[in-house]
Amino acid sequence: MLFRVEIREKLLDIILENVRTNFPREEILLLRGKIRKGVIEITDIVIPPLATSGLGFSVFPASMLPMDYSLLGSVHSHPSGNLTPSIEDLNHFFGRIMMIVVYPFKRENAAVFNKAGKKIEMRLIE
Ligand SMILES: [Zn+2]
Repeated sequence: MLFRVEIREKLLDIILENVRTNFPREEILLLRGKIRKGVIEITDIVIPPLATSGLGFSVFPASMLPMDYSLLGSVHSHPSGNLTPSIEDLNHFFGRIMMIVVYPFKRENAAVFNKAGKKIEMRLIE
């Protein structure tokens, strides 16, 4: 059961900055963190090996990843501004959580979803 995701404001800002730099290309990053009593704390971002991104897509070969149970999910951008997971996103769900950030990439333009595509509470911590 997953109740909530926590992320430091500073780390979210780094993600947003990274994605903004790549705009209008989509960007995908992996999220590293720890889970405790249904609460995931995102602690780091990891650049996926062999990631490719472009206009309207961003993928990486999940089979290339080392066994790393601290990788809890991914974050990618929707330059279109649509803050909902696409069917494609749900079909390629990696890990436990999927963060989506949309243009114009402010803190309020980020949301986290579970495998079912349901939004999970995201709490910013200092
Ligand atoms: Zn997407």
